[in-house]
Amino acid sequence: MKYWRLPLDAEGIPVVRGIVHIINDRCKGCGYCIEFCPREVLAFSKEFNKKGYHPPMVVSDGCLNCHYCEQLCPEFAIYSEEAEPAAGKVL
Ligand code: SF4
Ligand code: SF4
Repeated sequence: MKYWRLPLDAEGIPVVRGIVHIINDRCKGCGYCIEFCPREVLAFSKEFNKKGYHPPMVVSDGCLNCHYCEQLCPEFAIYSEEAEPAAGKVL
C-alpha cells in the first residue's frame, strides 16, 4: 500500500518486522495463512510434507509480526516472532 503523505518523523520511527516460522509437517494445506495475511507474505510451496500437503513458504520480507497467521492456523503450524527493528523503513 502506498500512502500519499508521511509523518514528518517517519524516518526515525522503527518499523516492527516479523520472522515467520513454519512447521511444515503439521500443515494440512488449508491455505488460511496465505489467503488472509494482510501483507501477502506467504504462498504455497511446491514441496510436499509428510501428510502429502503443500505447506506455505515465505515469499516476501513484508511481515509485520501481526500474528494473524498464527491465530488462524488450525494446526498450530505457523508462528512469527519479532525481528530487529529497522529505523526509517516506510510501510
Ligand atoms: S505475522 Fe501477519 S504479516 Fe506476518 S506472515 Fe503472519 S499474517 Fe502475515
Ligand atoms: S493455516 Fe496452518 S495448516 Fe493452513 S496452510 Fe497455513 S500453516 Fe498450513
